[in-house]
Amino acid sequence: MLSASINTGRQVSVKNSFAVPDDFQQRYDTLKRSLADIGYFRRGSLVRRFTLCGKAGCACQASPPSPHGPYFQWTRKVRGKTVTVRLTREQATELARWIEAGRELDRVIGAMEKLSLRATERALQALPAAARRRGVAGGRGKSANAG
Ligand SMILES: [Zn+2]
Repeated sequence: MLSASINTGRQVSVKNSFAVPDDFQQRYDTLKRSLADIGYFRRGSLVRRFTLCGKAGCACQASPPSPHGPYFQWTRKVRGKTVTVRLTREQATELARWIEAGRELDRVIGAMEKLSLRATERALQALPAAARRRGVAGGRGKSANAG
């Protein structure tokens, strides 16, 4: 079993059972550390709306119209249904930060996934070919779909 020893002075809690190029490992470790900086987050989106009330003589009916709002809403899907929550401007400002934190989380996880795929693919390729048993003629056995 090969374990890459990285002498950077910090603790590495999970060691790979296979060798990974140093630059892979460094980028992966950087991504993992950046996860620790992400605070609370929320999914969904922040919507800023203006409305027209339809009352005659209201400024929203003037030309040019001066609509009511902005009104802020947090919308998200819950079990397939869109759920909307009204927010004040101050709440919307906070929510925008949490939504951005959620997007940052997705970016970091996405980058980790790409890097992981490449690193683990190298590990698979490094194994003896016979151990991998790809595409046995005759279609016997389960097909392992590697996506
Ligand atoms: Zn109006």
